[in-house]
Amino acid sequence: MEFELKINYVECRSDSGSLYKLTKWGCNCKGYSFRRDCRHMREVLAKDLFTKLEAQRAESTSLFLTSDYITNERLKSIRYGLKKYNIPFTEKLVLKLNLVMRADGDLKKFLTLARKG
Ligand SMILES: [Zn+2]
Repeated sequence: MEFELKINYVECRSDSGSLYKLTKWGCNCKGYSFRRDCRHMREVLAKDLFTKLEAQRAESTSLFLTSDYITNERLKSIRYGLKKYNIPFTEKLVLKLNLVMRADGDLKKFLTLARKG
């Protein structure tokens, strides 16, 4: 059995090559659906992989929010979006929108806030 940490689940490749998805709520193998228990889940729990998955996700979230590269790319895409929707803007507005988009990339919200200036 081999395990790989994905974004939202642990992937298990069994010795026969089948792939299973495991989350805290279960495994998608047949055995688990009957017994609420399987060797994939027991192994994931023994290796503490859900904790590792959480840690990995927390780390990638903080990287995503704080890296200069990502921030610059986000600022670029905000300017691009403002131009695309013909909304006049200043750098001050771009920075203000950056704070909002950092937390929530919703386009409607973006446009509403952008048009308010
Ligand atoms: Zn299973």
